[in-house]
Amino acid sequence: MVKTERELRQDIVDIGRLVYQKGWVAANDGNITIRMDQQRILATPTGVSKGMMHADDLIIVDMKGEKIHGRKERTSEILMHLTIYEMRPDIRSVVHAHPPVATGFAAAGKPLNLALLPEVIIGLGCVPLAGYGLPGTPALTDPMLPLIPKYDAIMMGNHGAVCYGEDVYKAFFKMETMEHFARISLVAELLGGANVLPKVEVDKLFDSRTRYGVKARAGAEPGCPVVAEDLGDQDRYYVTREELIGLVDEALKARGIS
Ligand SMILES: [Zn+2]
Repeated sequence: MVKTERELRQDIVDIGRLVYQKGWVAANDGNITIRMDQQRILATPTGVSKGMMHADDLIIVDMKGEKIHGRKERTSEILMHLTIYEMRPDIRSVVHAHPPVATGFAAAGKPLNLALLPEVIIGLGCVPLAGYGLPGTPALTDPMLPLIPKYDAIMMGNHGAVCYGEDVYKAFFKMETMEHFARISLVAELLGGANVLPKVEVDKLFDSRTRYGVKARAGAEPGCPVVAEDLGDQDRYYVTREELIGLVDEALKARGIS
């Protein structure tokens, strides 16, 4: 069922409130757009909190980013949205925000690219990190160009993240998955580092996508996600607690200590 313009406006207002309540933006950060048809993009304007918008605050721009309807001014980050729509005909909504944990990884120069969690591998593949670019200029999107055709969630160096999907809810959920993954990755890192899944398990997860009806773009690319073998873990082997105690006992006995 095709939604009316009024319903699409309400969707952006609702998602904006969620993005704000989740703490993914501060003050007037972030922007959300929906592709209405081949010629028009419904967009959040500049200078408003995404948590306190009214349906009438939204503006409509054409595919060049020129405003064709609405009182408020367009955001300078509209160019990034237009680039994504141009490169991805399958995409109908783009959400850009600064979720703090994923953005922390982006500021530290660390992509969220380890094969750790089944849902993330199935839904996103991995989340690559694009280099920094000055907001409001083509330099912002240039580092993202090679990534946009392959991934639905991209971290932006020293800035934030952008996610996109077939509708605004799908774009929002991708960002939620990414930020949740960032939080879990951080905890695993604090606890001494995550156990990365081996390639055989990652391949099974990619294969299971059709079963779950997932239309994610990202397939298995070398290094995205990074699998256990990529980390040179092939030489590691695992022992049970009893085996380990046995080995230690043996070593102590051999040295005449026990
Ligand atoms: Zn931003």
